[in-house]
Amino acid sequence: MRIGFGYDCHNLVPGRALVLGGVHIPNGLGPEAHSDGDALIHALIDALLGACALGDIGRHFPPSDEQFRDISSRILLGRTLRILSEAGFRPRNADSTIIIESPRLAPYIDRMRSSLSADMGIPAAAISVKAKTKEGLGPTGRGRAVEAYAVVLVEES
Ligand code: MG
Repeated sequence: MRIGFGYDCHNLVPGRALVLGGVHIPNGLGPEAHSDGDALIHALIDALLGACALGDIGRHFPPSDEQFRDISSRILLGRTLRILSEAGFRPRNADSTIIIESPRLAPYIDRMRSSLSADMGIPAAAISVKAKTKEGLGPTGRGRAVEAYAVVLVEES
């Protein structure tokens, strides 16, 4: 068993769709990003790669590469799992926290878990997604950014 940790953040700007955990969430603001800016999936990708000491999201999917422009992060997550599989690893469970001031994410959490379950090939019961606000503190607390933290356990397959 190996543990991995990941973090991501994105500025929130008008005119972009908010996608978290592979789920579209109606909102006036969305992440400024080269891909779809799914901060939760980006944190999970870094956690998965980190557990296997295989680098990070920027190394495997560089923002300078046009093939990744506006790409769904679900595709990047799928590719990450193939990278892990080729290295002889598979995920066992994941825990995560999203920090966003609004909207309230509770109604979307279970959809995120089932979407991530399909993408990661593990049961939704092994995927935890939690949401918090930052109590008004800093840019995230003022609603200008979204952050996500994730830890995963992987095992040699
Ligand atoms: Mg990101």
